[in-house]
Amino acid sequence: MHQALNRAHRPHRFDQVVGQAHAVTIFRNALRRDRLGHAYLLSGPHGVGKTSLARIVAMAANCLNPQDGEPCLSCETCLNASLYTVEIDAASNNGVDDTRDLRERAQFVPPIGRRKVYIIDEAHALSPQSFNVLLKILEEPPDHLIFLFATTSPEKMPITVLSRCQRINLRRFEDDEVSAQLTAVAGREGLSVSPDAVGWMAKKAEGSMRDGLAMLELAASYAEDEVTTADARTALGSVPEEEIAALLSAVQAQNGEAVLDRTAALEREGADFVQLGHDLLDEVGRRMTAAYREGDGQSPAFWLNLCRELLALEAAGVGSQVGRLALEARLLAAAAFGPKTAVLAPAPAATAVPAAAEPVALDPLAKMSGGGERWFAILLQGARARHQDGEVWIEFPSPGSLIRAEQEDARRLFEKGLERMLGQSVQIHFGISKER
Ligand SMILES: [Zn+2]
Repeated sequence: MHQALNRAHRPHRFDQVVGQAHAVTIFRNALRRDRLGHAYLLSGPHGVGKTSLARIVAMAANCLNPQDGEPCLSCETCLNASLYTVEIDAASNNGVDDTRDLRERAQFVPPIGRRKVYIIDEAHALSPQSFNVLLKILEEPPDHLIFLFATTSPEKMPITVLSRCQRINLRRFEDDEVSAQLTAVAGREGLSVSPDAVGWMAKKAEGSMRDGLAMLELAASYAEDEVTTADARTALGSVPEEEIAALLSAVQAQNGEAVLDRTAALEREGADFVQLGHDLLDEVGRRMTAAYREGDGQSPAFWLNLCRELLALEAAGVGSQVGRLALEARLLAAAAFGPKTAVLAPAPAATAVPAAAEPVALDPLAKMSGGGERWFAILLQGARARHQDGEVWIEFPSPGSLIRAEQEDARRLFEKGLERMLGQSVQIHFGISKER
């Protein structure tokens, strides 16, 4: 029977888990030492493997022949995981009903296996009554019981429950991790996919393996033979590259009428304007980076301006209803400025970093900001810093990150954190990373 690629290729052992090394280490060590806790909270964006990891933990906790913390996948308990694993989707109505008599059922040891494992997906969506039931159990959990909560929004969980969980954060995947997995899955499925198409889909997936695999599946079902970027774009409702290029040329030429003609034509062809906004932003970001790197004095300002317009549109989260109008307004605003306009803010030209500057790890900054600023943690990903005599040079992998970093609240978090880390006042320079 046909199975979705994401389901067919999910990991079954810790060594098959991609990109979440710290989470895997925590669980494997606990299992090896037979010191698994009663409650864990797996947090992280959607599609990064929270539920898959929870299922592996359930199996490893019950396997009769575990090898170095790994489940053997062939013993009686490994083959009958459903007898000791209870999965509850808190986002559906069942979730509430399921927790109602949980307190009673949780007392029973499973028919096979030592541990009964409750995996609660979208745990933040549980009702207050359900949380109360869980809390009662967590206060004095029976030995055989393990709760694995998975959530995209840990901040919505009651603090009383959080405080009883060991918290493990799963990170968004890097583009090249998604690319590698898409290539591997395509190979196993006998699908032929061009490297360009893989790269394009990985980027579009924005760190979600599930989204990446869903795109691959859709594109492969659409393509005649080898999956090309054009196939992937069409299957996913992205307009062809030429259309994007033509629309941007019209903006650059300050030709408002042509902009309106193009968007009207795209609407007639059934374009999805929210998707079009994303695609435009990708392309504008790419051109902006290129303009900076090639040191062209004027055009970076134009692309930066347009990038800001499109980011503002995305931040406003406009629905598809007003999509066309909102997008047109932004494009026309950018067209009115034209390519010869002075920059809105001084271009963050990559100031030369002295060779002797020391690298600074940026990871601790997310913790110093209190962990409450999720966007800041995301911004830090892929950013690199070097330091010398109170001057810090921070480079970001993308123009979008650079623009976000330039904003006041971000700059403040960088300054505060770095001053604490380095023990001196700092002067910060932002730039785009030259290497890719
Ligand atoms: Zn086993």
